[in-house]
Amino acid sequence: MTNEMLSGLDTQTLAHVFEHIDMAVVVATLERKVVCMNAAARTLFRYSHAEIYNQSTALLYADQDDFIRLGQERFNTRANDSHDSYIVRYMDAAGESFQGLTSGGLIKNAQGKPIFFVAIIQDDSARLAAEETLNRLHTITSSRQLTFQERIQAILELGTAHFGLPIGIFSKISGNEYRVQQAVHPDQALAPGMIFDLGITYCSLVYQADDVQGFSHVSESEIVTHPCFENFGLEAYLGAPVFVDGERYGTLNFSSICPTSHFIRQDIEILRLLAEWVGHEVAREQDFNALETAHDQMEVLANTDSLTGLASRSCIENALRDQMTFALKYSKSLTVAIMDFDHFKSINDRFGHQVGDEVLACFGELVSVMGRKGDFYGRWGGEEFIVLFPDTNMAGVLIALNRLMDSLRQSDLSEQYQGLKLTLSVGVTEMSQHDNPETIVQRADRLLYQAKAQGRDQIQHD
Ligand code: GH3
Ligand code: MG
Ligand code: MG
Repeated sequence: MTNEMLSGLDTQTLAHVFEHIDMAVVVATLERKVVCMNAAARTLFRYSHAEIYNQSTALLYADQDDFIRLGQERFNTRANDSHDSYIVRYMDAAGESFQGLTSGGLIKNAQGKPIFFVAIIQDDSARLAAEETLNRLHTITSSRQLTFQERIQAILELGTAHFGLPIGIFSKISGNEYRVQQAVHPDQALAPGMIFDLGITYCSLVYQADDVQGFSHVSESEIVTHPCFENFGLEAYLGAPVFVDGERYGTLNFSSICPTSHFIRQDIEILRLLAEWVGHEVAREQDFNALETAHDQMEVLANTDSLTGLASRSCIENALRDQMTFALKYSKSLTVAIMDFDHFKSINDRFGHQVGDEVLACFGELVSVMGRKGDFYGRWGGEEFIVLFPDTNMAGVLIALNRLMDSLRQSDLSEQYQGLKLTLSVGVTEMSQHDNPETIVQRADRLLYQAKAQGRDQIQHD
């Protein structure tokens, strides 16, 4: 502003402008005593003219070291003009501190003589708190150590701290049902799985508006008759819808039985962001679960022989290794049987490959019906099978195998196809301390060939 422009303004007008600019302005003498504060400064610091006039500006600082330091750096007559702003912690008349973004310094008259100090202050607490909350949200959402539940819990705790509302809920809403997925409550009065009628929650209003809703003092608002107030006495509420992959999922909301100060635009933006993140977390968790299910299904497929439904070769090889380690460690017995269909080539030749397949599938079914839980049947290859009998002595194994061979002989298939004889040759051996998977299978195989050599349809064991 030039002097020419100013000359058009009288002192009264200037005083009026000073009083009503929305930034807090404090003018002090060169001894740092307050000369005047404009209306915004009096509101910010909660002093009246009379209370603050001629008082040292030291009164305005939360920390006296800051008062001294700024006296050396800025509020002295040797200080250079500075346009830099800085943040300092101030204290109001009620003893509450806040962060103030401050600029200003020494004011000189037209002759360059220092006359006053001026400080222009903006309450920066809300911006700094928001910055802090955003930083913490970033830490939470980028942490690989936290599980899904832990991340949601941390977001709920972050929200309760930021909004000063001690109850935090992440809800799932289906139709009229409001289900607490996760919650933070000072008395642990809320637990996952609790169900409420949507209508008695303020979240019904969020769903109606499909947007953030905030009430800072319900008993003095138009929703005083809302059943949520009647039932739970919640005075303050801030809630947002949660969307998962574009679909409405539930809400993220914070509340208190005490009224609170008005929510500002920033609160609403922060809540929206938190709710958005909760939605991302749910989507990520759902994707992850879908991937795990697919993985499990793949594993089942890889471990199962599709024709017989029995364990695949690789699966049974792993099982054999594990069972042997277990048996050795706990001094348990382990018996292994290898069985091979007799004259299977001729079955294929006489009845067709299709019937051969049916026989193998029928064997799988028979085993699933007759096999004892804990015994492990697998397809070793072709029409050859292997069975692991953990903690079972030879007598027990022979009983089980003979029963299986009997049922096979009398199976429905033998009745269906005249002349179809289903018999097995079996080699059975017990694990010794010096065995490894190869030696035990080799021994069972040798016994199987003995059974073949001695006329088939029989068991040979050691
Ligand atoms: P042996 O009594 O000496 O065991 O006579 P075998 O005819 O059963 O002889 P071997 O065990 O050596 O041959 C098995 C035959 O089983 C060879 C193959 O054509 C047949 N086979 C193997 N896998 C399958 C299958 O998945 N389906 C069908 N239909 N046949 C199979
Ligand atoms: Mg065979
Ligand atoms: Mg064979």
